[in-house]
Amino acid sequence: MGFSLDMKTIFVILVTGHVFTVFLISAYWRDHRTDKTITTFFFAKCVQALAWTILTLRGGISDVFTISISNTLLFLGTSFEMIALLKLMNVFSKKLKTVYSIMTISNLVAFHLAILFFNTESNRIAIASFGTAMLMLLPVYHLVYRRETSRLRRIMGLFYLFLALALFGRGIVTLFSSYSWSFFNPGYFQTLSFIGLYLVMLIGNTGFILILKEQADEELIRLASYDDLTGALNRRVFFSEAEKCISACLKDEKPISLLLFDIDHFKKINDKYGHDVGDHVLRELSSKIHEYLGKGNYFSRFGGDEFAILLPETDEQQSMKVAREIGKRIEKESLIEWNFSYTLSMGILTTVPTIDTELEMMYIACDKALYEAKRNGRNGVSRGFLHTEGFEDDKLSQM
Ligand code: GH3
Ligand code: MG
Repeated sequence: MGFSLDMKTIFVILVTGHVFTVFLISAYWRDHRTDKTITTFFFAKCVQALAWTILTLRGGISDVFTISISNTLLFLGTSFEMIALLKLMNVFSKKLKTVYSIMTISNLVAFHLAILFFNTESNRIAIASFGTAMLMLLPVYHLVYRRETSRLRRIMGLFYLFLALALFGRGIVTLFSSYSWSFFNPGYFQTLSFIGLYLVMLIGNTGFILILKEQADEELIRLASYDDLTGALNRRVFFSEAEKCISACLKDEKPISLLLFDIDHFKKINDKYGHDVGDHVLRELSSKIHEYLGKGNYFSRFGGDEFAILLPETDEQQSMKVAREIGKRIEKESLIEWNFSYTLSMGILTTVPTIDTELEMMYIACDKALYEAKRNGRNGVSRGFLHTEGFEDDKLSQM
């Protein structure tokens, strides 16, 4: 069957595709000059555009020159693109920089040794295929197997895995059979290669931009959800999560506990040791609470030195235990950490939600309990109670 694609047309499509990606990135770049990931991707596209331009001109210029320069550029272009992906996933360390430098130099040396001493088409194709496939393996690993990966990243990773396997296959077929799987040798494999090259350009570009967008979205959500200083949830997100937990506990008829606490005489710490130390105390306190609570509970900074903890499926006894343990731990560990100790006052409220339970009611009752703990001499826990008829006369009891 005469189903073959025209080589020059495909190469021109690749060149224009890469050139216009470069053009668009340049336009975007004017406002985002400091982004190193995009810079690397930009270089990858420039180098690839040049490589395909040279291959398009093949025939008009010397073959050895074309083969050497275009393959050098393709190795460099693939390396830059894979490095850009690794940078995008925040895993490109100094060690990986060395690994990629070594892999790229080895590819170039091996390819040029083949040109000089074993200059057959199959040797060159095998080295180019194995070398390019090797460059893809680390991004594949990070895209597919990392715990916090997304569906988009996994699909991109699987695409590169498939590509790497196809390249290994191409290398092996070329070495061990008489068939030459060259871009310049018409046939099924050439057609497949052209479709593959087009997809690599399309999926590589679109996928990269989408992962970039996904990361920007994640960062925005993170910035909008967490307190900068302490890394605790902000009040808005805490309340929205709390609403969901109350609904879940209502459905399962399980208790839920809310804990509000505030550092005692925090102003004095600021005054005596400075605002910096005050900030550090807030950060340390938060990391200790995070460590103590583990997953499945919610911890928020409500502002200043006031914090909240939500304990789903936690009854009065368990929540009181948590409150007391946190209080004791902080008092003891702050002394070791800072040579001065500080204490916490806590308000605590436990309820099995009903259809009438409102988070605001819980918060007000708990805040009153915290106030009561302060009034009772600080460094203690007070329990608040909800009244279904209203919450003006919440009963408080010093525990
Ligand atoms: P009390 O026992 O009644 O809680 O006394 P307090 O001194 O802790 O008083 P209060 O909780 O009302 O004061 C909180 C102080 O926290 C006031 C403010 O100077 C300080 N503060 C608020 N935000 C920050 C912050 O981000 N960093 C630092 N270092 N201090 C803060
Ligand atoms: Mg305070």
